[in-house]
This record gives sequence, structure tokens and C-alpha cells, in this order.
Amino acid sequence: MNRLSGKNVFITGATKGIGKSTAEAFAEKGANLVILGRTKELLEKLKSDLENKYKINVYTIECDVTKGHDLKEKIEKMPIKNIDILINNAGLALGLDKVYESSLEDYDKVIDTNIKGALYVLNGIVPLMVERNKGHIVNLGSIAGDASYYGGAVYCASKAAIKAITDGLRIELVDKNIRVTNIKPGLVETEFSKVRFKGDEERAKNTYKGIEALTPDDIAEVIVYTCNLPENLQLTEIALMPVHQADGRTVYRG
Ligand code: NAP
Repeated sequence: MNRLSGKNVFITGATKGIGKSTAEAFAEKGANLVILGRTKELLEKLKSDLENKYKINVYTIECDVTKGHDLKEKIEKMPIKNIDILINNAGLALGLDKVYESSLEDYDKVIDTNIKGALYVLNGIVPLMVERNKGHIVNLGSIAGDASYYGGAVYCASKAAIKAITDGLRIELVDKNIRVTNIKPGLVETEFSKVRFKGDEERAKNTYKGIEALTPDDIAEVIVYTCNLPENLQLTEIALMPVHQADGRTVYRG
């Protein structure tokens, strides 16, 4: 059963990876989209590709989620106020340095994007859902939020924060018809590692060496499944990993 046709879905970090695949998967179900990202050309291309392929409307917001006031203004100006589903996805990791050796700039960028950026998005969108007493918030956490791994502590902390924020929201919204889900992927092959290693393709490729990582389409399929469930059914948290990954630290590379 398709419960997503005609719904309005707001997706951050929609230009690449998991966000882009999720936009495509919702479009296939007939949902209208608000896609947010920093790269205008990628947003425009995705809008035209999806509008040409499916009978849907796509609205674009060019914005950096770390710029809270700009984001708030753009959400206020957005013509679509009845957002049914939020995919709070924009995020990144930087480096694999020890906590005490990482640069101050890397701390700032990861925390500003993954924690403060996600909060700014929630601050803009959740009141619209509360007003209608209707909605579904999907935050992109990670299995990295469950336990730290060597060199990943700051990123892991940011995803542990996503878990705390998601759980807190669910408590605050318990009297509303608003579902709150934390999606926690393991290894997914996207540009994530290229960003983490600041363009070092070789190092990025090694992350996925000897293991069949998940694809962004796999994550999109799980997100769409979660959002398509009957509205009284709330999946609170989903961890999903490749078959040869057991947790953030344990990977079998055949
Ligand atoms: P990706 O391919 O690098 O895509 C990241 C997306 O976020 C891009 O669209 C990027 O857009 C956007 N973005 C980054 N910083 C932004 C900012 N300040 N403002 C607006 N947009 C911003 O990475 P991905 O793997 O799809 O990651 C998506 C989410 O999944 C992240 O939250 C990540 O932590 C989480 N996750 C990923 C994995 C994995 O293994 N890949 C595992 C667990 C969780 P532009 O750069 O074009 O602006």
C-alpha cells in the first residue's frame, strides 16, 4: 500500500548520497519534495530530473544548515507549510584523528553541521507539524552514536547527540500525532568518506575495501518503508548494516 502519494517531504542534504537517493525514492511514490542543499546546480538538476520523471512538485532551498538565521528565514518564506515528513539528513565526518590531535576547525564543522544544523532544521520544521498535529520526523543518526571507535569520537559524539535529541523530541511530542525515528546506518558507500578524508580518494576507497557496503538506495528503501507504515505505528530507531559488519568497530573484510 502506498500511503506517501501527495505527501510533502522536506529533505536536507538532498544533493548527494543518502539524501538524494531518499528524494528519488519518495518521488517514485508520488510525494512532493522540498530539497535543501548548498549546491544550487545540483538542486536544480535534481528538481528537473524528478519533475520530468514523476508527476510531483519539487521546491528547492539553497542553504547551509549551519547558518541558522538564513535557514529560518528561508523556511518562513517557503510556500509549502504542510510538511508531512522531515528527513534531517545533512551531515559529515572529518578525519580520523585522535580527539586531542584534531583541528579546532574540524571540531567546529562537525558539531555545527551534525548537531546545531540538525537542531536549526528541527526548529524550523517541527512547529509546522505541531500546528497541524501531524507529521513524521526522521533524523539521520548512525551506529557511530551507539559506541565510539578509534579516531571517530567527535563524529560519534555528534551522532550520540542525534540519538539524545531524537529521544527527547519523541518524549516532548508524545501527545501529538507526530512520529519520531532515528535511522542509524553502518557503512554506506557515498561521498561520506571522500569528505571525511578531504578529497583523498584512495583513503576513501579503503574504507569499503573487502566489504560490500550498503548503498544510499538501501538506506532510502528503509526510510521510505518506515514512513509508509500505518500512521499509528512508530519505528523509534533502526540500525542497519552490511551483513559483514557487526558494529562501528567490527567489520569482516573477506
Ligand atoms: P554525502 O554523500 O557526503 O552527502 C552529504 C549531504 O549533506 C550532501 O548532500 C551535502 O551537500 C549535505 N551537506 C553537508 N553539509 C551541509 C551543510 N552544512 N548544509 C547543507 N547541506 C550539507 O554523505 P551521506 O553518506 O549521504 O550522509 C548523509 C547522512 O548520513 C549524514 O548525516 C551522515 O552522518 C549519515 N550517515 C552516513 C553513513 C555512511 O557510511 N555514509 C553512515 C551512517 C550515517 P553539499 O555538500 O552538496 O552541500
